[in-house]
Amino acid sequence: MATETKTIQTLNADTLELQKFAELAHKWWDKNSEFKPLHEINPLRLAYIDGLAGLKGKRVLDVGCGGGILSESMYFKGADVVGIDLGEKALNVAKLHQLESGAKVAYQLVSVEQLATEQAASFDVVTCMEMLEHVPDPESVVAACARLVKPGGSVFFSTINRNPKAYLFAVIGAEYLLNLLPKGTHDYAKFIKPSELSSWARHAGLNVSGMRGMSYNPITQHYCLGDDVSVNYLMHTQLT
Ligand code: SAH
Repeated sequence: MATETKTIQTLNADTLELQKFAELAHKWWDKNSEFKPLHEINPLRLAYIDGLAGLKGKRVLDVGCGGGILSESMYFKGADVVGIDLGEKALNVAKLHQLESGAKVAYQLVSVEQLATEQAASFDVVTCMEMLEHVPDPESVVAACARLVKPGGSVFFSTINRNPKAYLFAVIGAEYLLNLLPKGTHDYAKFIKPSELSSWARHAGLNVSGMRGMSYNPITQHYCLGDDVSVNYLMHTQLT
């Protein structure tokens, strides 16, 4: 019992954050649900990752994979994908969905820190999308991703910048005005500036090779990649 409590306490995870995703788990593949934004940005981030890392034939780890939206799409680009998350319900949905889609992603309920102790330097590409802003110690996740990638391999992160505009767009706009996301999805204090993410990456031995902003146009209701990293952004890093 004591050991179990200790394990839970030392896990780099926020129970309330995991709970939020558990409540929505049955909706992961409903493109008109709270997960609509993830479905809409998926082709953009997939193209960014594939364009820079060339997914075909690569061994890829998707950290915080949720219901498998990105994991499956990387599989269909020809990658050998492992998806990990600490949300059991999300992983069950991901496993069920691939019976339908024909994807063959290996899903595992394990923390990224734990996997890093077991399978260091064994992935060509690691992706960690829209997850860092939900964990208590994001720097530890960045460091674990760096341990999991092979030398020369790529690690991709995406998260939300922290500034008044990001608060307005990602919290007020997305959760309160446009109802794109459930209220309470994001906690402003956990947003991450590109300078902070870059510094964690460098400390972990990762070189920052590029960054793209992901913007939502409420008129056209479309997302696009561009130079504006003031709200949502993607970062490409490589292990030296
Ligand atoms: N990366 C996916 C899902 C993003 S939603 C995508 O972009 O499509 C955030 C995911 O992070 C959820 O599935 C949630 O369960 C997971 N998560 C939150 N805290 C976590 C932690 N500490 N370790 C692993 N996964 C976590």
